[in-house]
Amino acid sequence: MVPSDTTVAVVGGGPVGLICSILLSLQGIDHVIFERQPDTSIHPKAVGHNQRTTEIFRKLGIEDEVLRQAAPSNMSGRTAWYTSLGPDGHEICSRDAWGGGKYEEVFEKASPARYVLLPQIRLEPILKKRALALDPKGIFFGHEVDGLDESSDHVLVRYHQRGKEEVSSPGTLKASYALGADGGRILTKQLTIAMNGPSNIVDMVSAHDADNLIWKLGLALKHPHLNFDPLLDSYDAERRPVGERVARTSLQGMQSHAGSLDKAIGLSPDKDQETNVKAMKQFFDPLNNKEGAAERQEVDRALDGLDIEFYAHAAEVGFFYDLEYTGDYGNGGPVHDPQLNDMSEMNLNVYYPTTRPGSQLPHAWLYDEHSFDQKISTRHLVQLDKLVLLGSSRRWPELEHAFVDTLTIGDGGEYKPCDQAWEDICGGVAESGAIVVRPDGIIAFRFSNDDILNHSGRDIELRAIVNKILRLHGFPLSKSGAVTTMAVPTTMAELPALA
Ligand SMILES: Cc1cc2nc3c(=O)[nH]c(=O)nc-3n(C[C@H](O)[C@H](O)[C@H](O)COP(=O)(O)OP(=O)(O)OC[C@H]3O[C@@H](n4cnc5c(N)ncnc54)[C@H](O)[C@@H]3O)c2cc1C
Repeated sequence: MVPSDTTVAVVGGGPVGLICSILLSLQGIDHVIFERQPDTSIHPKAVGHNQRTTEIFRKLGIEDEVLRQAAPSNMSGRTAWYTSLGPDGHEICSRDAWGGGKYEEVFEKASPARYVLLPQIRLEPILKKRALALDPKGIFFGHEVDGLDESSDHVLVRYHQRGKEEVSSPGTLKASYALGADGGRILTKQLTIAMNGPSNIVDMVSAHDADNLIWKLGLALKHPHLNFDPLLDSYDAERRPVGERVARTSLQGMQSHAGSLDKAIGLSPDKDQETNVKAMKQFFDPLNNKEGAAERQEVDRALDGLDIEFYAHAAEVGFFYDLEYTGDYGNGGPVHDPQLNDMSEMNLNVYYPTTRPGSQLPHAWLYDEHSFDQKISTRHLVQLDKLVLLGSSRRWPELEHAFVDTLTIGDGGEYKPCDQAWEDICGGVAESGAIVVRPDGIIAFRFSNDDILNHSGRDIELRAIVNKILRLHGFPLSKSGAVTTMAVPTTMAELPALA
């Protein structure tokens, strides 16, 4: 039975809603999720999950099950085009894709996880099973949300249970927050968010949306005396450009996919069948006619042009956020992001790992001090609901803070680099500097050296930095919605004691 109140109400039990539910459960946050359908999707939908998404599967505790059900890696690294899927079908052309073949090495360097092919129709039951195991009483399939009524300190969710003949038994649920994971349906309309562009874009950015948002929501709920609204608002500023880029490139990929290969072979729906069959025959007989040889060259060129779909590695693992602040202590200002060209356009194919704030924490293999036979990635060191400072100097733990765990990589530390990767990728930081990493794996701040440790006011400086990262610019709104008249703190020292 649906309870009458909860902390977070999630509308929609597709991949995003279920991932939100698991992340909320892992942080011990009470929630209810409503899904209008009686069970998970009956359509295959999304199939490819990039390495950063597989990293999230590990965080959710489902990576092993996903890998068990996914296509084996030796069968999922190449894409081919056939004249027919039937027994008479001939391969027209093929190319490496999804981290297979010639891409294997670069993919392995970028992440501890692999690209996975598993259709959504198989993924959703894994997510649902895990969500139910963590929260057996909060997940309601066959329950449709009819609307939300917002007031100053809570939201009232109106829902009804969908019976076989749509017999409704309406109810309400009071929640502190509501998350819209309904695939852009009811909540988009209610919040009057306009949908731009074509609606048939097929790509999935959603696991990362949940990963970006839930740790911020967790902080807001666990520390209600601090104002985390600006941090929550940063979700939109950070994720919107990524979503827009994915939509743009998906559309581009879809168009070049459909257009370029057919054109290269000389096929067109506008030509008659005889002409198309002739073009196809020429293609398969390049030795006996020069048109066929030219078509083959065109096809090779067209295949390279499909990198945007089959080798968008940098877009997948190197997406970054333009953080509001330029946290770069000791580096004298922001550094041009290597992922951008001189025109400020992102290179979508080649990933350049960097410790620039706003970027993904680079992957490097480490040994755990206590078990040298077991390797762990820097990517596995992120916390669920706290920042983590990864430094090479043994003095960094002196800065331990309520919102920041510290871990030392190197001599005398908890972890030791397995190879050169940590030093190569983390450059200056590896000597005595440090990086502060958010729970979603994004570097929030970089110290290029440990000078801060010698300053008398270092604790206050660190607090000011944490203050900036978590956007704790002001105090919470009062119950009536008015801002209190207390001075805005500039350092963590001025903040009220943590609960
Ligand atoms: C045919 C098809 C093919 C696709 N192929 C690919 C692909 O190859 N690669 C790729 O990356 N992506 C693909 N996608 C996109 C991918 O499926 C979506 O990005 C993904 O499903 C988004 O997840 P979501 O949880 O945000 O939304 P959804 O999966 O849409 O889930 C939203 C859920 O909310 C529920 N809901 C809606 N309104 C209410 C309400 N009022 N009350 C309660 N529940 C409600 C819905 O029933 C639904 O289950 C494809 C999509 C389709 C339709």
